[in-house]
Amino acid sequence: MDFTFELIKRDSQTTGRVGVMRTPHGEIPTPVFAPVGTQATVKTLSPHELADLGATLILANTYHLYLRPGAEIVAELGGLHRFMGWPGPILTDSGGFQVFSLQDLRRVGDEGVLFRSHLDGSEHFFSPEKVIQIQELLGADIILALDECPDPFDRDYNAAALQRTHRWAERCLAAHTRRDQALFGIVQGGIFPDLRRESARFLASLNFPGYAIGGLSVGESKETMNEMLEITVPLLPEDKPRHLLGVGSPEDLFEGVARGIDIFDCALPTRLARNGTVLTRKGRLNLRNAEFARDARPIEEGCGCYTCQHFSRAYLRHLIKAEEILGLRLSSLHNVYFMVHLMAEIRQSLQDGSFASRREEFLSEYQIVPYEVRRQNKEAWLARRRGSKTA
Ligand SMILES: [Zn+2]
Repeated sequence: MDFTFELIKRDSQTTGRVGVMRTPHGEIPTPVFAPVGTQATVKTLSPHELADLGATLILANTYHLYLRPGAEIVAELGGLHRFMGWPGPILTDSGGFQVFSLQDLRRVGDEGVLFRSHLDGSEHFFSPEKVIQIQELLGADIILALDECPDPFDRDYNAAALQRTHRWAERCLAAHTRRDQALFGIVQGGIFPDLRRESARFLASLNFPGYAIGGLSVGESKETMNEMLEITVPLLPEDKPRHLLGVGSPEDLFEGVARGIDIFDCALPTRLARNGTVLTRKGRLNLRNAEFARDARPIEEGCGCYTCQHFSRAYLRHLIKAEEILGLRLSSLHNVYFMVHLMAEIRQSLQDGSFASRREEFLSEYQIVPYEVRRQNKEAWLARRRGSKTA
């Protein structure tokens, strides 16, 4: 069965829309939030738990799986779905973002990008053809073209990188052979409106079955990100899904959906959980704080997740302080449930015409992490990731 996307309803007050993607491994109602399973596992959660909490699409990382265990091994063992025991739809990224985050470890040319493994320093080369071959071996339902991810503020670099990304997109299309996989192109262009426009127009002309928007939420302000979406989305075909890569704070779901985004993925819910931070409708809670030591309430009153049905903030705080693995699991379970269910509510509100008021209500209650704090967190995280041998 080939990949299809059906647009079901357009919101009358925003650019938001409801649709459904059909893949060989099941249907994905959109807009959708995809939990990230970097190493073919959404950290600490089993596929059974992910299915139970309502996840319909999981993202896995080509770069990491290529280095370890290797795409051939995954293919030998029946492909990614069977290998990780997740029978539902999977999306793999192209590895571009990871390779270009390696900083000093690469050399880029028109043919592709040379990099060193963060695991053992061995040298590897990603060309557009190679990245497609790896993703065909992994066997995800949706795969991505190789793109160059430059510093979003460097105009000259972005202009040059964009031409390369466009040629690579054409080469990915030419190299792609598996009819059961949908190959999405990636719009780049940094924070420059003219480059974003050029990229959206060019990629739209190549007639991909879907489009990803890359290079956002990498240090620019939320206002700039939203402006780039307002410039890019109208130039993409209306009957194709649009994926905002690596973006997915609770507030981003509302802002992205309002601007016509259908797919979000983000490691944030599981990354926060491993720090003892959980998501609520009022904002983030750090369970390590002393104020929760005697707090008998669940993370969030009314939350239907297993964690909130059975455990108090005080118990979770105890687990996290004692560095018990269950603390990470229960926090991750709540956070992923929170995001998946928030998106289900967004879909419902688009269906019944209440999205605009729902968005206003949520954003008035949800305390957004200030820009400066977010930027520092992101930099610290990137620095840890670069330095880490087990990222
Ligand atoms: Zn919960």
